[in-house]
Amino acid sequence: MNEVIDGLPEEQGSIGSLPDPLVQRESPQATILIRGAELLDPAAGVDGQRDVLVEDGVITKIADPGSIDAEDGVEVIEAEGFHVFPAFFDPHVHLRTPGQEYKEDLETGTRSAAAGGYAGVLAMANTSPTVSTPEQIESLRDRASRVASIPVGFLATVTHGMKGEELTDMAELRQAGAVGFTDDGVPIESPRILRRALQYQRMTGGRIALHQEDVELSGAGVMHEGAVSAELGLRGVPSISESVMIARDAAIAGYEGGQIQIQHLSARESIQQIRLAKAEGIDVTCEVSPHHLCLTDEAVRTLDASRYKMNPPLRTEADRQALIDALADGTIDCIATDHAPHAVHEKEVPYEAANMGVTGLETAFSSVYTELVLPGRISLDLLVEKLGCGGAPFGIEPFRLQEGSRANLCLVDLEAEWVVGEDGYESRSVNSWCAGETLKSRVLVTLADGQVAFRLRTFSLGVA
Ligand SMILES: [Zn+2]
Ligand SMILES: [Zn+2]
Repeated sequence: MNEVIDGLPEEQGSIGSLPDPLVQRESPQATILIRGAELLDPAAGVDGQRDVLVEDGVITKIADPGSIDAEDGVEVIEAEGFHVFPAFFDPHVHLRTPGQEYKEDLETGTRSAAAGGYAGVLAMANTSPTVSTPEQIESLRDRASRVASIPVGFLATVTHGMKGEELTDMAELRQAGAVGFTDDGVPIESPRILRRALQYQRMTGGRIALHQEDVELSGAGVMHEGAVSAELGLRGVPSISESVMIARDAAIAGYEGGQIQIQHLSARESIQQIRLAKAEGIDVTCEVSPHHLCLTDEAVRTLDASRYKMNPPLRTEADRQALIDALADGTIDCIATDHAPHAVHEKEVPYEAANMGVTGLETAFSSVYTELVLPGRISLDLLVEKLGCGGAPFGIEPFRLQEGSRANLCLVDLEAEWVVGEDGYESRSVNSWCAGETLKSRVLVTLADGQVAFRLRTFSLGVA
């Protein structure tokens, strides 16, 4: 049966009380009356025109439009025609601190998230150096408590330096505040190492998020392997590079009773593996990015690496349609941006040489709304729900629009049109996959844990 691993305590259970998973900067608690907006929180059964009163950061009253009087000192937002959703939560972002602050940092990254309607994000650990020690988790949390616009949680690496050889001290990392574990950026190549990590997880908790890629199959590929790569003469990454690793790791997780999150699904074959694993009762959750839901490898014909080169790569229309179907039928748990800022000098180079990754926090809602909701491919309810539930695999419940809850919500104008990047970005980097596109719908205001985290400049001037 199960291999006994060195140093694993026989008692599987508590590692003591853990710190709060998320931290942010302290700001004044909001007191705001939002009048006459359309409230939509599908999971809570909320759908209709209401007034929402937020006092000292808490939703104290939700009532029929016009029924709440504004007391002195209460800011009033006339929101008729706008929507209020529970704020979004992204379990997969790269905030680049420490070591790569020329791309992004905790301040710009969380500001970028707030501008997209998010009230929580989880930061990946492939920084420079990687986040592999309890001291680093503590130092990041300390910094976030001074500069983060919205609550942020940190994942630690599974292996030291993401080298895939030696496990980090998962128990100590959890006690320091690590929300989960990931070597995102690279796969865990050794099945033995993943198995041992999942054995430790039984004691420490903390889901392991997996970047799924067989490095031998991916080789030196720079885009999806298919007709377009053949025409362009670029080396390809086959779909099976992703799906064979999912099959392997789901089997290991099932055998060990572990919890894994499959990151950034891109291929039809991968969805088949997820379906098989879920049918077996394996605790596997998974995410899809807005760019994989909206784009295909046809976009790579432009050779615009800043917008279209990422890992995993954009795949075919059949893959895209399979991802949308899997989102709609519940196979895919949540939408995660894989927000990956890079500097211009890392992107404005020949396609093969460019860094992989695109930013996505500021456009997540608007892009999927424009590309999938407006044409009737998915419902607005589904989009709001799948952008909101990304924390659940890591034990963080979705935000709710209900009296007594802390205010985590976004005010959105579904009629607004904007050109992405025209007024710059909150992010430090400009490698948005939507750059220059005209999108429908825009986040106007975001409240995160009771604080005003974002307010669109033109809206605050009353001209939105
Ligand atoms: Zn990845
Ligand atoms: Zn990533």
